[in-house]
Amino acid sequence: MLNNKRLFLFDIDGTIAVDNTLYDGSFELINYIDSIGGKSVYVTNNSTKSVADYIEKFSRWNIKTDESNFMTASSAACRYLKENFGEKKIFACATKSFVEEMKNSGLNVTESEEEGIRCVIVGFDNELTYDKAALTCKILQTRDVKYVATNPDLCCPVSFGAVPDCGAICKLIECAVGRTPLFVGKPNRLIVDECVKNSSFSYGETIVVGDRLYTDIACGINAGVETAVVFTGECKEKDLEKTEFPPTYAFSNIREFFDAVKSGNC
Ligand SMILES: [Mg+2]
Repeated sequence: MLNNKRLFLFDIDGTIAVDNTLYDGSFELINYIDSIGGKSVYVTNNSTKSVADYIEKFSRWNIKTDESNFMTASSAACRYLKENFGEKKIFACATKSFVEEMKNSGLNVTESEEEGIRCVIVGFDNELTYDKAALTCKILQTRDVKYVATNPDLCCPVSFGAVPDCGAICKLIECAVGRTPLFVGKPNRLIVDECVKNSSFSYGETIVVGDRLYTDIACGINAGVETAVVFTGECKEKDLEKTEFPPTYAFSNIREFFDAVKSGNC
């Protein structure tokens, strides 16, 4: 049932926007959700940007947001690392922006080979160099460290197609060290649990909307909430025939989803 939904957990890339372009219908949908007393939270596995970067990006689309509107894999990773490693030293293979976000969260982060490292965190590092990848492999093989990563996505959609995401960087590392990380981002249900906990809405009033079955839709399924897929990103209609993560609803694009939410016909 779509007409009782108030907490909308939107994926960004391939769902409401691609690169710097907002999809047709996204703006109206977001305003409509505000008008019915609902809340939009943008849940993204893209860890190249911090929450501050996203607030700035959305303001360029004339969408006013604050920290409570974002649940990024990087912010979820910060919380997870804080809870599990406290003041302990963490080696980061991540963008400058994410490293800054971790430091601002009070984490003891290093990007060099220091004594006392207890954990390795890998993000969607679009500033990755071979030296950094090699150092990450060295630390994973020579130190007694836990291994955590932001998100399992293999690629990230961009205007010309796709580029390697965090999951692909982890595969690269896995080829050398034979280890796989714990992924904190979608499809880990922690993401949905955190969003519901921070809101005044129930799981029944919550829906996850995304373009990728094995992260977005799986995340909603893992958390026991309804899900909607849109076919403007990775998932195409034919993929629904053989998926282990069937969404509750499917739409061609976010405009169609908006029409369905507004009419309450689902
Ligand atoms: Mg996406």
